[in-house]
Amino acid sequence: MQTYTIKAEENPHREGHRGYHGTGIIHSIESCGTVDGPGLRFVLFMQGCMMRCLYCHNRDTWDMHTDKAQEMTVEQVMKQVLSYRHYLKATGGGVTATGGEPLLQYEFIRDWFKACWEYNIHTCLDTNGYALHYDGILDDLLDHTNLVMLDLKQIDPEIHKVLVGIPNTKTLKFARYLAERNQPTRVRYVIVPGYTDDDHSAHLLGEFIGDMENIETVELLPYHELGAHKWELCGDEYKLKGVKPPPKETVLHIKEILEGYGKNIIY
Ligand code: SF4
Repeated sequence: MQTYTIKAEENPHREGHRGYHGTGIIHSIESCGTVDGPGLRFVLFMQGCMMRCLYCHNRDTWDMHTDKAQEMTVEQVMKQVLSYRHYLKATGGGVTATGGEPLLQYEFIRDWFKACWEYNIHTCLDTNGYALHYDGILDDLLDHTNLVMLDLKQIDPEIHKVLVGIPNTKTLKFARYLAERNQPTRVRYVIVPGYTDDDHSAHLLGEFIGDMENIETVELLPYHELGAHKWELCGDEYKLKGVKPPPKETVLHIKEILEGYGKNIIY
């Protein structure tokens, strides 16, 4: 097993990040996912998230440590990845790190993506942009990431706080960093009635990403209630109970607004 000495100034344990000893804390694995990036994907759902989205469909990933989480080395994960390698490649797919928030375990993801690159396997980081440290580890991870899928939940800071529970400053900083690096990025935008489905929010998003040439596409994701039962299992109240998915006309209208900022829209 690999072990790493973490310098004091890089110690990711301070706020959110866990100390790294060569293993990742994994919520679950999906061997042939179809919605987390191009083609068929081997998807790792990482444990831990600092956001508290009202619509979270993975409520059970929030805590870093739970009874059900499994701790795995890169070697153990790669053994599984390699058994699916040919299926993944045949469909133009690869692997995706999601969660929870994979950046909270960025050293593990860095090591995993590096291992994938040794086999020429496409890597995708599905993130909410909650990066705590801009250091060599993050750059190394991004250097081995083929595609970032960045959730931009709401550009308006006040609505973001209500919807996500925390400010959006870290996410916006990360988006700008990706643009500076010219990192291939797909933005994901969840259309939540009453929170992100209005013209003003769509224009704010369009203005924010309009000049970012690294953003190839924007994926519109209509809100759905599918993860609500997990909140109850965790003993929490699901506050969006009764909120219906947005009508198709709303999604098409937002698509049109964002196309006005020169972006390709996937819906
Ligand atoms: S960022 Fe993702 S995992 Fe975290 S609370 Fe929001 S939806 Fe859930």
